[in-house]
Amino acid sequence: MRAVILAVGDELVAGETIDTNSAYLARELAAVGIETVAHWTVADDQARLVAALRAAAEQADVVLVSGGLGPTPDDVTRQAVAEATGTDLKLDEAQLRRIESRLQSRCNGTGDLEFFRRRGREMVAANRIQAMIPAGAEALGNERGTAAGIAGRVGRARLFVVPGVPHEMRWMFQHRVRPRLPAGTGVILYRVLHTFGMGESDVAARISDLIWRSGDVTVGTTVSAGLVSVRVTSRAATAEQAQRQAQQTTQALRARLGDLVVGEGEATPAGAVGEALAAAGQTVSVAESCTGGLVGEMITSVPGASGYFRGAVVAYDNAVKESLLGVPGDLLNEHGAVSGPVAAAMAEGCRRRFGTDWAVAITGIAGPTGGTESKPVGLVYVALASPAGTSVQRHVFPGDRPTIRRRAALAALNGLRLAVRAHSEPASEAPAPGQDGTN
Ligand code: AMP
Ligand code: MG
Repeated sequence: MRAVILAVGDELVAGETIDTNSAYLARELAAVGIETVAHWTVADDQARLVAALRAAAEQADVVLVSGGLGPTPDDVTRQAVAEATGTDLKLDEAQLRRIESRLQSRCNGTGDLEFFRRRGREMVAANRIQAMIPAGAEALGNERGTAAGIAGRVGRARLFVVPGVPHEMRWMFQHRVRPRLPAGTGVILYRVLHTFGMGESDVAARISDLIWRSGDVTVGTTVSAGLVSVRVTSRAATAEQAQRQAQQTTQALRARLGDLVVGEGEATPAGAVGEALAAAGQTVSVAESCTGGLVGEMITSVPGASGYFRGAVVAYDNAVKESLLGVPGDLLNEHGAVSGPVAAAMAEGCRRRFGTDWAVAITGIAGPTGGTESKPVGLVYVALASPAGTSVQRHVFPGDRPTIRRRAALAALNGLRLAVRAHSEPASEAPAPGQDGTN
C-alpha cells in the first residue's frame, strides 16, 4: 500500500507556514502499514490541485489531502476534487444541519444567541460550501470545526480530504479516516538514534555496512539542529516482527556508535545530561556568555530539571564575569574573554557561587563580526568544573551565529554528559551489550 499526501495552501507553498500535517499523517499511515511515497505541497489553485490529484492517483493506493476546506473563496479543494473526479458538488443536508448547530452553539458559548437569530442565516450561508460534497463521495462529519471532510475515489486510488487546521486534521484522521483506510500490508516502524560529536559522513562511515536501502530494514542518516541522527525503518507482517528487526539493528548501531549516541526518539542531549546527573545524585550550574542562556533553556526544558539544576548566570559583559563569577580582571586582560583560562575561571566561579557538584561555562565568538586571525568566528571554549578539577575544551564551529551558539550549547551538554558518566561509573564506561536501545 502506497500513499501520496497533499498539503494544500498558499501559505504553505510560500513558506510562511511549515507543513506539519503531512509529517503527522505519514507517521500515522506508517503505523498501519501504508508507506508514504511523496508529500506534495500545492497552492490554493483549482487547476494545479486537479493536476496534483490526478498525478497522485496514478502512483498511490491512497491519496490523503489536508487543507483548502475553509468557507472563503480562496479555498477550492472541494471544487478541485469534484473536477478531478468528474462530478459535481452536492449539498449534504446532514452536514449543513451539523454546521448550523455548531455555529449556533458557538453563539451560545458567547451568550449571544440573539446575534445568531439575527445573523444565523448569513452565517450558515457563508459556511454552506463546507457541506458540499462531490456526488458519489462520502461526507466526513467534523466534531472539531465546521468543514466536512470527504472520502471517495480518484482514479483507482482511495481519496480522503480533511481540513488543514492541525487539531481538526488530527481528529478527522483518527476518527474518520483511519477506520476507513484499506488494510496495509503489514507494519512499518521507525526508530531514530541521535548522535553528537561527529559529522554525518563520519557517522555514516562507521555504520556503512548497516546502511542499505532495500530489504525489510533500512538505515539512513539525517542532520538537524546540530545532531546527526540515524534512522531505522523496519517493515514486517506483524508488529512483533517489526519490533524485533528494529531492535536488532538499533543494538548493532549502538554498539558501533558507542558514546556518540546522546539519545533515542524524543530524547534530547539535555535529557541525557539530566539522566546522568539524577543517577549520580549530583547538581549542576551554568555560566554562559555567547550562548546567552541557551544551555539553561535546554536543561530546564526537561521535566524534573529542578532535581539537579541550580541555576545559570549569563555573564555577557566582562564586568559581570568579574563581579558575579569572580573571574580575575588580570586574567581577562591577559588572555581576553574568549580564552581557556577565562572559561575555566568562569566555571570554577560558577561552581563556588551556586554550590553545585558540576559547573559548565561557555565563552566564544558567535559572529558574524568580532573574529580575528588568532580568534576566529566560531571559536568557543567550554569549561567543566567538578570535584575532580577543571577541564577546558577548545572548539571552532562552522556556521552562522545561531548554528555556532547551538553547537556550543550542545558541546557543553555533551561534555557534561560524558564527564558525569565517566566520573560516577568508571568501571562501566562501555555500554553493556544487551542493554542497548532501552532508554
Ligand atoms: P485551511 O483549512 O487550508 O484554510 O487551513 C487553515 C489553517 O490551518 C491555515 O491557515 C494554516 O495555518 C493551517 N494549516 C493548513 N494546512 C497546514 C499544514 N499542512 N501544516 C500546518 N498547518 C496547516
Ligand atoms: Mg487554506
